[in-house]
Amino acid sequence: MGFLLKIILFGVAVYAAWKTFSRWKGLWDKFVGKPDEPARPAPPPPRPPAEPLATRKVAIQETVQCAGCGAYNPADAEKCGQCGRPQSHPQS
Ligand SMILES: [Zn+2]
Repeated sequence: MGFLLKIILFGVAVYAAWKTFSRWKGLWDKFVGKPDEPARPAPPPPRPPAEPLATRKVAIQETVQCAGCGAYNPADAEKCGQCGRPQSHPQS
């Protein structure tokens, strides 16, 4: 009977040790971080290619503000797309 009690106590001790180890391991992983931990938040989506920025830059460079309504239109547009006023081209 004493032998069985020892086995049970040993099992409980191993179980407690395993629980403690798991808890500390979880803390360690939380602080150090595992690269492939599924619980971590997903990394931000990859940035889109630089094309939108370049397009916007070009759009800013080649945009003329309408003197009538203040809308921005392409510099090569004949007239304002919002109010229909003919575009003034100060460069030419
Ligand atoms: Zn306009």
